[in-house]
Amino acid sequence: MRLFTYYPNPSNKQVTNVGIFKDATQKECIALTEVDANLPASLLEIIASPSSMKRVKEIQGQANLSWKSSDGIAFAPVIPKPEKIVCMGLNYADHAKEGGHDRPEYPSFFMRVPSSLLGHEQPMIVPPVSDKLDYEAELAFIIGKQCHRLTKENALEAIAGYSIFNDGSMRDYQRKTNQWTIGKNFDQTGGFGPCLVTPDELPLGAHGLRIQSRLNGKIMQDSNTEHFLWDVVETLVLISEVMTLEPGDVVITGTPAGVGYARTPPVFMRAGDIIEIEIDGIGILKNPIANETTK
Ligand code: MG
Repeated sequence: MRLFTYYPNPSNKQVTNVGIFKDATQKECIALTEVDANLPASLLEIIASPSSMKRVKEIQGQANLSWKSSDGIAFAPVIPKPEKIVCMGLNYADHAKEGGHDRPEYPSFFMRVPSSLLGHEQPMIVPPVSDKLDYEAELAFIIGKQCHRLTKENALEAIAGYSIFNDGSMRDYQRKTNQWTIGKNFDQTGGFGPCLVTPDELPLGAHGLRIQSRLNGKIMQDSNTEHFLWDVVETLVLISEVMTLEPGDVVITGTPAGVGYARTPPVFMRAGDIIEIEIDGIGILKNPIANETTK
């Protein structure tokens, strides 16, 4: 199943609802509450509730639904306000190397905050204080139940689904200190979408999926999740050793080589650019770049 969060009224970002795509083409969709008004209008609440997920599965298989075109949907971040967004740095050896890092002994974890998120097709924002906005293609996974101290054997049971993330980074701010957090949390710089794909639609642990970024159609990153230094299972074990994970928490798994700052000459995104991240079996996360306007 492929579930997404959207704004029914694009001018009001406070109200969201949940839709489901008919199939992997993601061309047609329907609002879940239109089929069953008892379902929550929150994807976090749906994935946290086994009975809601069961009902959604029934809906997906239901005949005679009035599917509509997905054109014009105003996508919100898949989970608009996760309690936690845990990010991994340097999880592909080639990207660690291009940044001058050795193969690390432990992942570089950092956090993003919900105000940094934006949905599929929404603009990624260049703030007036920096022109160093860079892209990072990443696989995201979303937690479906409370968990702590997961093991290699049970880790994957914690995952409600997978998605695509663009870990947009202001490189000059990222390097102002040795903590990356500040450069990774400008408003509307973290693309997250278009949808949550349930694990049954993908290889175990989302292993072996091609991952690409394209800037204005040009391939900038082209790798495969088989090149993770820490795979999804190992990542879950490491994070849950430290913190209790809750439904709707998001983990983003690092980016491969080819980011803009490490290129010669460096490439940064400008207003009018289009950045796309594609992961096999999940889809395409596409965002235009725009300058910040007065709020
Ligand atoms: Mg990253």
